[in-house]
Amino acid sequence: MSASPKLNAVLTRIAHAEKAAGRAAGSTTLVAVSKLQVWEDIAPVWEAGHRVYGENRVQEAMTRWRDRRADIELRLIGPLQSNKAREAVGFFDVIETLDREKLLHALADEVQKQGKAPRLYVQVNTGEEPQKAGVWPKDADAFIALARKAFTIEGLMCIPPADGPPGPHFALLGRIAARNGLERLSMGMSGDFETAVRFGATSVRVGSALFSHRL
Ligand SMILES: *Cc1c(COP(=O)(O)O)cnc(C)c1O
Repeated sequence: MSASPKLNAVLTRIAHAEKAAGRAAGSTTLVAVSKLQVWEDIAPVWEAGHRVYGENRVQEAMTRWRDRRADIELRLIGPLQSNKAREAVGFFDVIETLDREKLLHALADEVQKQGKAPRLYVQVNTGEEPQKAGVWPKDADAFIALARKAFTIEGLMCIPPADGPPGPHFALLGRIAARNGLERLSMGMSGDFETAVRFGATSVRVGSALFSHRL
């Protein structure tokens, strides 16, 4: 695992955070966010053997990963338009941004048609920011219940507000998950993934700490 010093550094920081939190080693999945990266920057992480990647646009992900698709776990972490449901169900292993009824129905239709279902996370807008996607915390229980009529929901995802401490948002996501019997939490990015691990993240989405030159 020497091809990418940055990957090693992030994995080491995750391991320390797990240990400090009294969590099992390896209980946090690193999702390497490859959006807007050129292959030269992704290559060292790829060559080091990392195989879980996150992308926030369907078309861009298809272009970047088409040739290596069979070898990776690919997660959609950006907002999904209902009219892209077909491509998203066809191409991604995990969709982390389910957040509204229209999208729920579009995904259910595609799963029916394609006979394959992605693993799904409900995105919660913990900061109640109008410009951001995600169900609001007060609507989360009802939406999760609705989504479960069509799908197995694997967990919850959030993106805390850019300013202010993320801890309370991670804690809120954890509470919503716990009361709904969900065990997976996708939370934490380059600036706060160790905090997220402390609050129980089962996957962290890290881009800039792994790759240098976002386009
Ligand atoms: C870009 C992005 C990330 C990665 O952010 P970094 O700060 O570069 O680690 C994580 N999650 C989502 C939803 C993103 O869009």
